[in-house]
Amino acid sequence: MEAGIQTGQGVKTETREPGKKAKETWIEEGEAAFYKTYNRFPVVFERGKGLYLYDTDGNEYLDFYAGIAVNALGYGDPEYTSHLKEQAEKLLHISNYFYNPPSIEAGQKLLAAAEMDKVFFTNSGTEAVEGALKIARRYGYNKSGGQDYEIIAMKNSFHGRSTGALAVTGNDHYQEPFKPLMPGIRFAEFNNLDSVKALFHEKTCGVILETIQGEGGIYPAEKEFLEGVRNLCDQYDALLILDEIQCGMGRTGTMFAWQQYGIKPDVMTVAKALGNGVPIGAFLARGKAATAMVPGDHGTTYGGNPFACGAASKVLDIFQSRNLTDHAGQIGNYLWERLEELKNGYPIIKDHRGMGLMQGLEFTMPVGPVITNALLEQKLVLISAGTHMIRFVPPLIIEKADVDQMIQRLLAAIESCKASWQ
Ligand SMILES: *Cc1c(COP(=O)(O)O)cnc(C)c1O
Repeated sequence: MEAGIQTGQGVKTETREPGKKAKETWIEEGEAAFYKTYNRFPVVFERGKGLYLYDTDGNEYLDFYAGIAVNALGYGDPEYTSHLKEQAEKLLHISNYFYNPPSIEAGQKLLAAAEMDKVFFTNSGTEAVEGALKIARRYGYNKSGGQDYEIIAMKNSFHGRSTGALAVTGNDHYQEPFKPLMPGIRFAEFNNLDSVKALFHEKTCGVILETIQGEGGIYPAEKEFLEGVRNLCDQYDALLILDEIQCGMGRTGTMFAWQQYGIKPDVMTVAKALGNGVPIGAFLARGKAATAMVPGDHGTTYGGNPFACGAASKVLDIFQSRNLTDHAGQIGNYLWERLEELKNGYPIIKDHRGMGLMQGLEFTMPVGPVITNALLEQKLVLISAGTHMIRFVPPLIIEKADVDQMIQRLLAAIESCKASWQ
């Protein structure tokens, strides 16, 4: 067998069961099969338990990444898993032309948590964003018959990879090869109210922004900025869409991050942690936005199916019964303290930003591949957001001791690649 990939520590073959496919073989076969749009790390994960992931060689990794802020309950939660099994045996899918109890229950619970009036379930985050954009367009259309179609989005944002969501993603690198994209989008500077004000006019039907920019490098919205955008939307009768796909679902210490700002969106999107790994997203609307679209305007085959909605319904129950939102806020404070200590000890750490269990450390140099590889060598799953930032979006069930364990491995990783920045 040839080791095609360098892992730094070499491949530990001794723990692999006899006859089991080697990691390198999996990677080669994966590369042969997949349409190449990702550069993957040379790790093949096979199973998870709690906060730990296990690769095909039996190595154990501490996970502070949670599959990009998805696995809020960690891996293999018994209550959640047994619910999935039960629902799988009952009913998976029937289409939206019929009612099903799990979707109604998930809808009621999500609306209550989000203080919204209406919900539409999707299969992903990007589809939730598509639906939210259609509400804004429809709202403008209802007023003027198609004149008020402009949407203001933010530079450095991320809203997904489908073409509508890509059109509001303020990142040239992602957009350029796919132009021309959906017209009528104008980009303002995040946290710069004047730049938003300058783009507003009668044609504006909506503004979309992340309450905390995630992929762009963990930038929380400032309170005055969000209040100001809310006021502008009211003044011009445009809809405020908040994308809570990454920062929502309890991660910041409230169910949704905007609930700490004293304002309310007209439309919001949620996904990632909503299904704890079962693909599901949603867009929710309130007041005048809740009736903008009419039957026939929007649809989905899978969205809202009883299996995915049963998962979301159970996740929402568990959030309540285990008080996970408060827990995330408290542990988030502890993570903040520990990361501040770390930042103060290393001049290569330039900044530390975030809220609750959504934090990032910004380095003075790109974190990939040297630091990201060193983290994996320390058996710590943590990856970047933007080029210079390491992102911390762990499962919400972590305890202080897990934070300590993570810091220990992170320190070891930073120390191990010290030579490369001196
Ligand atoms: C991940 C993400 C999306 C896209 O969600 P997908 O499920 O990957 O389509 C949209 N907005 C934000 C803020 C995200 O973090």
